Amino acid sequence: MENLERIWQEAASHLEESLPETKKQWIQRISYGGEENGVLILALSSAFYRDTAEKNCRTDIENMVSEIAGSEISVRFTVDASKKPVQKSSPKKEKEKKEKPQSLNTTLNKQYSFDNFISGDNSSFAFNACKVIAQNPGTSFNPCLIYGGVGLGKTHLLESIGNYIDEHNPKMKIIYTTAESFTNEFIDSLLSKEKISAFKSKYRNVDVLLIDDIHFLQKKDSTQEELFHTFNELYDNHKQIVLTCDRPITELTDITDRLKTRFRKGLNVDLQPPAYETRMAIAMQKCKEKGYTIDPKVLEFICQSINTNVRDLEGALTTLSSFASLVGKPVTLDIAREQLKNFIIAPAIKNTDITIDMIIHKTAAYFNVKDYDIRGKSRNKNIMLARHISIYLASELTSYSLSEIGKVMNGKDHTTIMYSVEKIKSIMETDESVRQAVNDLKADLLS
Ligand code: ADP
Ligand code: MG
Repeated sequence: MENLERIWQEAASHLEESLPETKKQWIQRISYGGEENGVLILALSSAFYRDTAEKNCRTDIENMVSEIAGSEISVRFTVDASKKPVQKSSPKKEKEKKEKPQSLNTTLNKQYSFDNFISGDNSSFAFNACKVIAQNPGTSFNPCLIYGGVGLGKTHLLESIGNYIDEHNPKMKIIYTTAESFTNEFIDSLLSKEKISAFKSKYRNVDVLLIDDIHFLQKKDSTQEELFHTFNELYDNHKQIVLTCDRPITELTDITDRLKTRFRKGLNVDLQPPAYETRMAIAMQKCKEKGYTIDPKVLEFICQSINTNVRDLEGALTTLSSFASLVGKPVTLDIAREQLKNFIIAPAIKNTDITIDMIIHKTAAYFNVKDYDIRGKSRNKNIMLARHISIYLASELTSYSLSEIGKVMNGKDHTTIMYSVEKIKSIMETDESVRQAVNDLKADLLS
């Protein structure tokens, strides 16, 4: 039998290249643990890691090691707390690094990359589209618009496109900016003719223009006008444009139709909140990146409680990790519950683990609208009913005060919240279908 350790090293490096991100990170956590009667032993640092790695990757690993060995190899997963996964850098990557010319692009934030974005069912379409764009800028999916709620990874993907292009085509000029900075810079340029022409030439001579949060342009008529011309110039010259927005283009108000039409050309992709498994994968990736050690049970608790916003998930990890290092002991489940109370969407629990975010999410799904519709200001009848019901359920099922509920619901004051609660109470007296909706949702949330 060939040396199993060598076979494992080779299999691991193939698997890291070929598996999706959610599985790849498990492979990186596995160390060679020895051999027993021809069985390959693979070690992980805790029982939780062992079980999850086994569940996610056993078949891929067995197939790959058997393929390399040329005969059937069985694998056993075990726990060895002393094993810490080693980050490998392939010789190919090292060579690429050395040969890379200086980049021209200074507006990009290097911390974001496709490699540290965890793609799940909620985001795989957007993630794959962004990768294709980064590999062939200006040729496919131009323009592209990524839309989705707060903290779901829009900026991360946009910057990843920029970083990828910068790494592979360092001669390309890339600008990453937010719609807000674009607006401020434009206003500033109005002070002199020279400044205006410098502004125009800056934005009209790029190969890739990445503009974040274009919803900010609502009501900014002159900036919209300027962007319209910039857009046309770049588009006509086959330059890549990627935009992000917190809602679909159709929901934008106070943006001229001709600009909306431009934005809707090409590809529009949405980011949905990640499912529990993806949240766990993201949380573990963040812990790895930042060197946090958080008990797997506590991680599970965080990922169950914070379910629709990755930024808040990260915030919770940072809070708990700082707490642990300040008091010098590990965070237990009780400490985590206590500490995360301050998180706006952490469980506001009396007897249950129900969060306002969960309520919004379930109610939105029930009424076939989006989470952000419920937090937003739309006067659409169906959305308004869903919004009133979410507020009613939040007042019934959580211990948030009315003004706290208002804060989560996008800055509504407590009288507006009280109005919603009273409204639903009175509608339920006469309208069977609303009563049914409230009861269904309550049952679902409490199950
Ligand atoms: P948005 O721009 O949609 O508000 P961001 O891109 O700023 O959200 O994401 C918020 C934080 O969450 C960032 O630190 C980002 O790296 C992280 N994040 C979001 N989605 C993912 C993901 N799928 N994988 C890894 N990190 C993520
Ligand atoms: Mg953003």
